[in-house]
Amino acid sequence: MDEGIQNRLRLVRERIEATALACGRDPKTVKLVAVSKTVSVDPIRAAIKAGVTVLGENYVQEAREKIEALNEEKISWHLVGHLQSNKAKYAVKLFDLIHSVDSLKLAKELNRRANALGKVQDILIQVNISDEETKSGVETEQAIKLVREISLLENIAICGLMTMPPYFNAPDKVRPYFRALGSLQGLIRDKAIPNVRMDELSMGMTGDFEAAVEEGATLVRIGTAIFGERACKKGG
Ligand SMILES: *Cc1c(COP(=O)(O)O)cnc(C)c1O
Repeated sequence: MDEGIQNRLRLVRERIEATALACGRDPKTVKLVAVSKTVSVDPIRAAIKAGVTVLGENYVQEAREKIEALNEEKISWHLVGHLQSNKAKYAVKLFDLIHSVDSLKLAKELNRRANALGKVQDILIQVNISDEETKSGVETEQAIKLVREISLLENIAICGLMTMPPYFNAPDKVRPYFRALGSLQGLIRDKAIPNVRMDELSMGMTGDFEAAVEEGATLVRIGTAIFGERACKKGG
């Protein structure tokens, strides 16, 4: 188990590095977020031992239990899954970066909770770049307005954008969405909105992270390629 994770992690890192170099990027500008949703603490410990420093979780309660059980101070925990306002209080306690902010209501609640903790909460704006009705994320057209509104909240720092494109495991189908997120990042950056940084682009998962790196991802969120299939049969 340990060795499996170590090997898979090495392969993922090699692929990120090779892709970055091939398109003229410094591999250090691509950070790996190991997505550990549904993964128990032993494999997570193995990943940490193998050098993982950023872990991504989808559910606040699940993350909270693991963070307590692991008690690893040097790990940076990111929330990559959808967040409901009623969990904002815990989210600001647990996570260094929240990738999934897509409404002013949620941002205001995070701001209130962060203020109470004396923290400035780093967030990304999740954009529904394909404008599918079912996906979370702010619609592309509304994104700049939302960034402007959230930029006024004192205990929130916008660091960039995140997206979850449709189609899994089809890099060439998702590439246009990755590119569109990069364009939106440029557009927002050009507006030079006070209190807004546009440094991070969180995009790319197991099936498509190489395309994402080619399109400018700075945070790739990878679960399966590191921890194996989630809904797996025993021994598989
Ligand atoms: C599960 C998940 C990932 C990782 O997906 P894999 O295909 O297992 O790499 C990345 N981002 C989000 C938001 C997820 O929910």
